[in-house]
Amino acid sequence: MNDQLPEDLICWQQLERTASDVFRLFGYQEIRLPVVEKTELFARSIGQATDIVEKEMYTFQDRNGDQLSLRPEATAGVVRAMLQHGLLHNAIQRVWYTGPMFRHERPQKGRYRQFHQIGVEAYGMAEADLDVEIISLTWQLWKQLGLTETTLELNTLGTANSRQQYRAALVDYYQSHKESLDADTLHRLEKNPLRILDSKNDAIIELNRNAPDILDYLDDESREHFQRVQQLLDKLGISYVRNPKLVRGLDYYSRTVFEWTTDKLGAQSAICGGGRYDNLVEKLGGKPVPAAGFAIGMERLIELMKIEQLCQPVKRQDVYLVQTSATALELGSTLAMELRDAGFSVTANVGDASFKSQLKKANRCNARLALIIGDDELQTSTISVKKLDDGEQFSVSRDNLLAEASKYLAITE
Ligand code: AMP
Repeated sequence: MNDQLPEDLICWQQLERTASDVFRLFGYQEIRLPVVEKTELFARSIGQATDIVEKEMYTFQDRNGDQLSLRPEATAGVVRAMLQHGLLHNAIQRVWYTGPMFRHERPQKGRYRQFHQIGVEAYGMAEADLDVEIISLTWQLWKQLGLTETTLELNTLGTANSRQQYRAALVDYYQSHKESLDADTLHRLEKNPLRILDSKNDAIIELNRNAPDILDYLDDESREHFQRVQQLLDKLGISYVRNPKLVRGLDYYSRTVFEWTTDKLGAQSAICGGGRYDNLVEKLGGKPVPAAGFAIGMERLIELMKIEQLCQPVKRQDVYLVQTSATALELGSTLAMELRDAGFSVTANVGDASFKSQLKKANRCNARLALIIGDDELQTSTISVKKLDDGEQFSVSRDNLLAEASKYLAITE
């Protein structure tokens, strides 16, 4: 779990601002939810036999004896909230969220125990257009951020029915190679054979090359749906690679699944994952409502933005106010208010300090101008303006301060 320090947060805020602008362009509205939910909600939605539920959740009993968990992802909570507030009844809904998620994983670069996601969920639309809408939304976001080093991986998981047949074919295949399976794969074979496809074990990766392909087990509707997704992506010029091994680590997906990956981040290469989950609302107690969504891993995306040098520089403070007496301070606080009213950022010196030490602080806070109010200035109703970049200093009358400061600050903006 990491602290996020002021300097890092410049890039975080840039991402949050850009993402919320793009979400708005697509008609998505923000939703904010608690970070704690009943454990059962995650077990039912993400799946009992997934890594997340089996071994990664932070689970505890509260004082009422309720079994609760810190959310490992947001989709389950969004569905819970939409059902609880009756927002899914005969309605098309598009929402977005952001916030911390918690998984007790083995920490490494790009994999943390508290990490942050920003994502969308959309309800009430069964057609392939929606799958493409959310993919093109991510694409638009990459464009807006200026990212170039991303690849879209695409697959389909069919319906529960087609997946059952596919699952049986996979079990047959791995059973016939049982002697080469390690303990983890044997466990997955028993509990969740599809997960063997995203194994990181080299021998299993090799074995997976010849594993059955879901495309051969798809029902006609899922096949058409998948073709339509690809056609629409082609029309938009969004390129993708089909990855038949992409199954995602959560059980609720159906039909389209996708991941955006990059080869710039080492082992933790996925920056965004999502797909369609048409059965989850019903599974959590609602009437059937088709749905799709994605989540972006913010730590990884920000790391990629840094590598691609897309983070904006820290914004400089406009003004540092140097005030060397109690009377100067009284005038200074009025001037600071006027400057802030006009939209300039002003850091005012607080407490007694020598003129020299106040100027040092002005430089340290990376201000553009130091405005100096000392005894001379008070007597002559002027303010001394010092440009901190080149040290040039001049005097302006008090009444002219705003106009002069605006002139200089506008030029150097
Ligand atoms: P998931 O909810 O597992 O589909 O993950 C969606 C995205 O969240 C991934 O593509 C990652 O970018 C990010 N993510 C998942 N788990 C972690 C983690 N432990 N640390 C950092 N980012 C993560």
